[in-house]
Amino acid sequence: MYCSECGKDVGEGTHFCPGCGTAMAGAPPPLPQYGGARSNCGLCGFITALIGLFLPVPFVDILIAAAGVILSGIGISTRKYRGLAIAGLIIGIVAVIGNISLVLTQPEVYTDAWEPWGF
Ligand SMILES: [Zn+2]
Repeated sequence: MYCSECGKDVGEGTHFCPGCGTAMAGAPPPLPQYGGARSNCGLCGFITALIGLFLPVPFVDILIAAAGVILSGIGISTRKYRGLAIAGLIIGIVAVIGNISLVLTQPEVYTDAWEPWGF
């Protein structure tokens, strides 16, 4: 069997040309990975939402919490880490609402949190 791209003799039963990496005819399609890259979104969303909840940086924490909500929402559609994704979604929404109301009603909370670093 010869490579259709570079003409190299790749032998029988080879799935990829060792010379140029081209997939050979008859090569099995790559196995679909369960959930793919999205399968960890539940865990990522949970952690991101937690960071958004506790990070004492105004506006940035709202953005991070919102990112946690989005990642958790994607994570819920996969079975892996679904429990964490649901928790992350709830924590993220609480964090977004909490952070917005905090920055509107008690901005001094952020000032106090920054004081040890000299801000
Ligand atoms: Zn080749």
